[in-house]
Amino acid sequence: MKAAVCDVFGKPLTIREVPTPSPGPGELLIRVHGCGVCHSDLHLVDGDWAAWGTPLPIIPGHEVTGIVEEIGDGVTAFAPGDRAGVPWMQYACGRCAPCKAGAEMLCAAQRSTGVTVNGGYAELVSAPEAFVHKIPDGLDLVEAAPLLCAGITVFAPLRRAGNLAGKTVAVAGIGGLGHLGVRMASAMGAHVVAIVRGPGKAELARSLGAHDVIESEKEKIGPALTKMGGADVILLTGISARLFEQCIPGLGPNGTLVILAAIAENASVLPAGLLTGQKRIVGSLVGTRDDMDAMLRFCADHGIRSMVERHPLSAVNDVLGKLRDGRVRLRAVLTPD
Ligand SMILES: [Zn+2]
Ligand SMILES: [Zn+2]
Repeated sequence: MKAAVCDVFGKPLTIREVPTPSPGPGELLIRVHGCGVCHSDLHLVDGDWAAWGTPLPIIPGHEVTGIVEEIGDGVTAFAPGDRAGVPWMQYACGRCAPCKAGAEMLCAAQRSTGVTVNGGYAELVSAPEAFVHKIPDGLDLVEAAPLLCAGITVFAPLRRAGNLAGKTVAVAGIGGLGHLGVRMASAMGAHVVAIVRGPGKAELARSLGAHDVIESEKEKIGPALTKMGGADVILLTGISARLFEQCIPGLGPNGTLVILAAIAENASVLPAGLLTGQKRIVGSLVGTRDDMDAMLRFCADHGIRSMVERHPLSAVNDVLGKLRDGRVRLRAVLTPD
């Protein structure tokens, strides 16, 4: 099969023929229809996250959708022809403290698609059926691919926040994650405030269902949110320590700011500002398998899809370059050549 392979960190991927995986017991072989290109993939191919123990060569890609082509011995939940999605998580031990506490995405023994085992920058991918998700019929396979990572990332903290009807949810950053956050929070009944930067983003946010828009170049985020009564939830999707700092004062009493972007620089927080309103700053990492199934059904029911640019697999290096330069509008998805 054809695949885009990372042979050396920091070098372009090589498009070449590699052996087609054969599904072992409990595994599926899936013909890839779409594989989202995520910011994490840049970190992976650049070698920033070598500490994760990525074995080279590796086929990246962890937002994979396709059709089951073959099933291994003992597979019961899937049959050839089924619509399937492969996310980050391909294995969790079930024995460690986070696994037992229902937070399997924090399992230290986890195997990750496109990071420690081969992913979806290929014509075919294999994965254990227990960690593969059925893609509902109402979702287009290519538009659904980014839901497996970007979609679950914004859905899980919204679901955890409980009933959002009438609550104020601010989504900071309208990109691959944020545009889905606006759609989902609005479908959950929240009053959605989009915090945007850059041309065209305010109109885009409104068209996605935002009720209010704060343009961070024109007004201060904290006071603007406070004037609206303060945010109950802020989803921070922009990779910016400044954006993080500017959002905190906009939290309402008992409000929660959820960090969804890997911001790798220091930021300053005034602890007393959190104390008085019992405000929280938390991180959230993808979600559980149950969150994933709920998210996929929710998106199918509410017509929520990722807005994507489609590119052939053979153009992967150009797509990674575009993403690095900030020239991908919302989400790029690789499709078979
Ligand atoms: Zn991702
Ligand atoms: Zn575990």
